[in-house]
Amino acid sequence: MIKTFKSTDTTQISPHFNVSEFRCKCGKNHDTKLDNELISKLEKLFTALNCSKIIVNSGYRCEAHDKNVGGNGSGQHTKGTAADVVCYDIKGRVISSKIVCCAAQDIGFCGIANIDHTYTATHLDNRMSLKWYGDETKTTAYSVTDDFYKHWGLSKADVYGVQKSSKKITLIIDGKTYEGTITEK
Ligand SMILES: [Zn+2]
Ligand SMILES: [Zn+2]
Repeated sequence: MIKTFKSTDTTQISPHFNVSEFRCKCGKNHDTKLDNELISKLEKLFTALNCSKIIVNSGYRCEAHDKNVGGNGSGQHTKGTAADVVCYDIKGRVISSKIVCCAAQDIGFCGIANIDHTYTATHLDNRMSLKWYGDETKTTAYSVTDDFYKHWGLSKADVYGVQKSSKKITLIIDGKTYEGTITEK
């Protein structure tokens, strides 16, 4: 459901996100539209990648601002259903957008794309229409893949292993219990 918030609103809408982070950056004090389903998926992403923080570079955009930053004025950002984010791991390091794309695919985001040449920023949206799995450094016209794991040659361990490396694990093999920690690459 898409809600509308005043430009001055600073409601903490979920454990890790505040509505003020999604405010349009055009400089005018207009309302912010925001989809609560987008927020709940961002929270799932936060947990899945064991993030220390997720920075929202761009959330809601009014039509004018969307056009200013190269959009067509009617994209997902203007509906309040999109966010461009940079994810940080527990040690404060930026998580590659290739990893973020894979995790976002698992969570069920329908619009996902790498958006910069350094592979640090990811566009995520909760579109209702056809999926878009993109890489804006190549094209914005069509999906580059239907599976980011295959596209970037990543495994589940590549995506989730390192992030959870500090966690203790318990293995039961043939009835015996083994304790251990997953080691970092
Ligand atoms: Zn604006
Ligand atoms: Zn975007």
